[in-house]
Amino acid sequence: MKDSKDIFKLEKEFLIQTYKRIPIEISHGKGVFLYSTDGKKYLDFFSGLAVNALGYGNEKLILAVEEQLKKYLHLSNFYVSKTQIELAEKLIKYSGLNEVFFANSGTEAVEASVKLIRKYAGPEKKIISFSNAFHGRTYGALSLGGKEKYKKQFSPLSPNIVQLEYNNLEQLKKNIDAETGAVYIEFIQGEGGITVASNQFVDTLIALKEKYNFILVADEVQSGIGRTGKPFAYNHYNVEPDLVIIAKPIGGGLPLGALIVNQKYSEVLSYGDHGSTFGGNPVSCAAGLTVIDEVFGKGIINEVATLGDHFISNLRKIQREKPDKISDVRGMGFMIGVELNEQCSGIIEKFRENEILVNCTHENVIRILPPLISKKENIDYFLNIFHAII
Ligand SMILES: *Cc1c(COP(=O)(O)O)cnc(C)c1O
Repeated sequence: MKDSKDIFKLEKEFLIQTYKRIPIEISHGKGVFLYSTDGKKYLDFFSGLAVNALGYGNEKLILAVEEQLKKYLHLSNFYVSKTQIELAEKLIKYSGLNEVFFANSGTEAVEASVKLIRKYAGPEKKIISFSNAFHGRTYGALSLGGKEKYKKQFSPLSPNIVQLEYNNLEQLKKNIDAETGAVYIEFIQGEGGITVASNQFVDTLIALKEKYNFILVADEVQSGIGRTGKPFAYNHYNVEPDLVIIAKPIGGGLPLGALIVNQKYSEVLSYGDHGSTFGGNPVSCAAGLTVIDEVFGKGIINEVATLGDHFISNLRKIQREKPDKISDVRGMGFMIGVELNEQCSGIIEKFRENEILVNCTHENVIRILPPLISKKENIDYFLNIFHAII
C-alpha cells in the first residue's frame, strides 16, 4: 500500500461496497480544515456528517480523551463509570428531561426508544413517523424511516409503523388517534433535505398529543447539541418531547449515542430489558463532556445562532440573483440546505475543485454542516466560492 491510488483500488477489493467514497486521501485535520496527502487544504463544511462539532485537533478534547485513556478504556456496564454519570447529568440539565440510556450510535439509541415504546404502549398501538424521515439503518430504525429506497429491499420490517407526510396538518388530524402509541419527528429533517417543521404542524402535533397522550420522540441525532443555534432543534418550538435521541456530535468524533427520557417514561425499561457492551464508553463520554462544555458553556452556541443567520441570509441573496439555479434556501444555525433546480453532484465536485467539502442529500439539496467552531471568515469564503461557481 504505497500511494493513494492503491488504497482506492484496495478499498474496492477488500470492503463491501456500501459507500461511494470521495476520491481524496486525508492525512490530517486542524480546526475547520482537512489536509490531503497531495498537499491540498480543504474547508470542511461537511464535518464528518455533523459529527466534528469542534473541528479537528481540538486540544481540550484530546486532553480529556488522553486522561480517560490512562484510567481505563472500558469497564463494562456492570460497573459505574464516573464520566458516564457526569455526562448524563449534563444531558439532563440541557435537555430538561430526566434519565439517560447510553448507546454507541444514533440507530442504537433509536432501537432503545422503540423497545421502550413497545413495552409501554403494547404491540397493538401504532407508531407514527414521517415521509423522508431518517432514523438509522438497523431494523427498528429502518422501519421508522420515510425513504422507500432505503427500505424496499429489506422486508419484512417492524409492523404497526405508519408514515405520514411531513408538514401535512390534515394527515396528522386524520391519522393520529387513541390507537397512536408514539410519534417520531425530526424538527428539522437532515437526510430528508434539511426540511424544517412548520409552526402550525408542530402546534397541531402538540394539540393532538394533549388529546391522545402518545409518546413524542424528538430525533436530534443530527440537529442536537447546538447545531441549530439552540441546544436542540425542538427548542425552536413551544414543545416538550418525552424522549430525545442524540448521537453524531456528542462523542466528539468517538462513537456515542443516547436516549434521554422524561420522568413519566423513566421506569419503563428495567433490569435486563436492554443493554449494550460498549454503550456509553468512558472515553467517548469524556470527549462528550468536552463537547458539552465547549458548545454550551463557552458560548459557541450563540456564535452558531448569529453566524447561521448571516450564512442563510447571504445564501438567500445569492438565490435572488440566481432563481433559475436555486429553488430554495432553508435551515437553522449551522444546518443549512440549498435546493437546486438540478442534481447537486456536479456542484459538489466544483466545490471540491475549489477545496471546499460539502454534502449533497435528497438528490438536489446541498447540505451545509460546518463545524460549530467555524468563523465568519470561513463562511464568507464559502459564500464567495459558491457565488462564483453557481
Ligand atoms: C445519522 C442519523 C441517525 C443514525 O445515526 P447513526 O449513528 O448513523 O446510526 C438517526 N437519525 C438522524 C436524524 C440522523 O441524522
